[in-house]
Amino acid sequence: MNRPEFVLIDWIRAQVRDHEPVRLGIGDDAASLRPASDRDTLVAIDMLMEGVHFTFPSATPAQAGRKGLAVNLSDIAAMGGRATAAFVSVALPNERGMEFAKEVHRGLIALAEEFEVVLAGGDTNSWNGPLVISVTVVGEPLKLQPVCRQGAVPGDWLFVTGALGGSLPSGRHLTFTPRLREVQALSQMVDLHAMIDVSDGLAADLHHLLRASVVGAILDADSIPLTTTAQNLQDGRSSLLHGLSDGEDFELLFAVSPADGRLLMSQWQYETPVTKIGEVTSATGCWLRESTGVVTPLLPLGWTHSLGS
Ligand code: ADP
Ligand code: MG
Repeated sequence: MNRPEFVLIDWIRAQVRDHEPVRLGIGDDAASLRPASDRDTLVAIDMLMEGVHFTFPSATPAQAGRKGLAVNLSDIAAMGGRATAAFVSVALPNERGMEFAKEVHRGLIALAEEFEVVLAGGDTNSWNGPLVISVTVVGEPLKLQPVCRQGAVPGDWLFVTGALGGSLPSGRHLTFTPRLREVQALSQMVDLHAMIDVSDGLAADLHHLLRASVVGAILDADSIPLTTTAQNLQDGRSSLLHGLSDGEDFELLFAVSPADGRLLMSQWQYETPVTKIGEVTSATGCWLRESTGVVTPLLPLGWTHSLGS
C-alpha cells in the first residue's frame, strides 16, 4: 500500500538502526525490547503542541521534532538515567505535506542518534489542525536506583547545571542539549540525593523538589548562574527574576552532601558548569538571601499551564 502514512513510515524505518535493548523496532504491531539488566525501566512522556510549546516559523519543523525528544531526554536525565528507546506519536497538519513530516522526524532522529537512543515505534496521523508531537522515552537508572525528587536532607548543598533564564527569547528552548552526559559524569563522582530538571522555572521546580523531600532551602541570589540573554533582557524584570522564574531551561537542579559538593567544586571538569546555589534546611519554606544579607521568601514563581476557567 502506498498511502502517504505508509510511505512516511517506510522512510522513517530506513533512517533508523535498531540496537540494544530494541530487538524489534519499527515495522511490526508492537516493538519488542529486552533490557540488558534487571534494573527498573524508566518511562517519560511529554506532548508538545504547535502554538503552545513551539510556533512556526520561529521554530523549524526539525527543531519541533527535536524538542519533542529533547524534553523527554531531560526527564530521563533528571531521574539519574540513560535513555534507550523512543516512541513518537504525531498529528501532522494535512496542508504541510510529506517534506514537512520528514523534517519533523529528521530533527528527532538526529538527536536520538546523538544519544544512542533507538526510535522504536510510533503512530502517524494527519488532520486539518496544527502539529502535535507526543514522545515516550524508555531508559534505565545509571545506578541501582533512580534519583528522585525526594531524598534531599537538611544540610545538603543545592547545585544547578549550566545557566538559567531567557530560554524563550534566546530560542534555547528549541536547541538545548539534554543533560544526559552531565548526569553520567555526576553519578560517577557523587551520590545524588535528589534531582529535578528545571522546566517550569528554578523557583517552581525547587519547590517541587523541596515538597517531595519535606525540607526547605535558602538560595544565595548572587550565586544563581544567569545566561547572557537573562542578563541583557530589558523588559522591566530583573535578570535574577528571569533566572528564577523563566521556564524551559532544561538544566538539572540537584542536592548532594556538603562533602560531595566540595568535591564537585574542586574536581568537576566537564564543559557544562555546575554551580552551588544554596543549601537545604530542616525548616520547610524557601528563602532567598541577597548580597546585602536581606532574606526574603522565594515564591514558586514560574510557568504554569493554564487549564482555563
Ligand atoms: P498498527 O496499525 O499496527 O498500529 P502502524 O501502521 O500504525 O501499525 O505502524 C506501523 C509501524 O510503524 C509500527 O511499528 C509503528 O510503531 C511504527 N510507526 C508508526 N508511526 C511512526 C512514527 N511516526 N515514528 C516511528 N515509528 C512509527
Ligand atoms: Mg497492528
